[in-house]
Amino acid sequence: MSKTSYSIAVLPGDGIGREVMAAALQVLHAVGPRIGRRFATAEHPAGAQHYLDSGVSLPDATLQACRKADAILFGAMGLPHVRGKDGTEIIPQLDIRFALDLYAGLRPIRSFAGLPGPLANPRAAQIDLVLVRESTEGLFHARGRGTIEGEGDAQAAYDTMKITRSGTARVCDFALRLARQRKAQGKPGRVTNVDKANVFTSMAFWRQVFEERAQAFPDVSTEHAYVDAMALNLVMKPWAYDVLVTENMFGDILSDLIAALAGGMGMAPSADIGDDYALFQPAHGTAPDIAGQGIANPTAMILSAAMMLDWLAVRHGDSALADGARAIEASLAAAFAAGSVRPREFGGSSSTADIVRAVIAGL
Ligand code: ATP
Repeated sequence: MSKTSYSIAVLPGDGIGREVMAAALQVLHAVGPRIGRRFATAEHPAGAQHYLDSGVSLPDATLQACRKADAILFGAMGLPHVRGKDGTEIIPQLDIRFALDLYAGLRPIRSFAGLPGPLANPRAAQIDLVLVRESTEGLFHARGRGTIEGEGDAQAAYDTMKITRSGTARVCDFALRLARQRKAQGKPGRVTNVDKANVFTSMAFWRQVFEERAQAFPDVSTEHAYVDAMALNLVMKPWAYDVLVTENMFGDILSDLIAALAGGMGMAPSADIGDDYALFQPAHGTAPDIAGQGIANPTAMILSAAMMLDWLAVRHGDSALADGARAIEASLAAAFAAGSVRPREFGGSSSTADIVRAVIAGL
């Protein structure tokens, strides 16, 4: 008998992070009784406002609570006027990623009937892909380690990209396993490795490790693409891709590009997954320009909560949780298809609360 109650560490953060989190929790607590499961959600402080209040952006107690919980739900963190001593933004989401070794950043994107994306081609209705971003090394290894050397006109700044064999192997394995799972669901089951192996030693090494790992997955088809060509093709024919895997910085950039394909940041869920822990958050930031108005699109956060249910379902062998995820996705899709709600990014006037109401009514 699998367990029936799951503990969820909730870190709402700043700005619209708090608004979309409240929305997703309402949906989660509405799904629970329908699948015979309970979600014991507990809120913990972290973020830029907490840094202003306490001098700490990610308290140890919060990190401990994340380690103890079955999964972590994360809103958004950071405020433009709140900066650390070196002038960089307060972004605890990066600290938590490194602290919990969340090495695979998942960015799934799909189109919804009733919500026209930015591409005119009718095949855009078939977009259904997942970007897997390596999240613990790559160019982000340089964060906090960059140097400026020399004097005057000879000054030069250096940030170093780090690609390890083990770090690359585990994220490539993750992407290849994901493609295998998707193939079992009737999707193509193909991994496109995205790199810049024609220019950089580190990227040629990455490609070599990818090819070695792919040999253990003969049922998964693979191909390579250079990141610049990929930026072009993700706009020209995104429906041609299934699973993409790439280095941290390339993944950072391409994940915003694919969010646009789905109609905007409010539509893009994400997950940061390691071997022991997993965190689920919308791909967007705190959106200070619209915070406090009740108009943020909660779709990305709600879909992230559904991804959490899928991850917990596999981890605990509890298919009821996957049923919950499907119910959330189906309800959202039905509400958009019927036109009963339309987020503002699509020219509609639905508030955050309108979208939550529609999703819960359709469960
Ligand atoms: P970060 O650097 O943390 O990614 P950012 O300021 O670059 O943050 P966002 O906070 O994601 O980016 O905001 C980018 C734009 O997208 C803003 O105009 C914002 O209003 C809009 N936006 C982001 N999320 C949503 C949402 N859930 N609903 C509606 N609009 C959103």
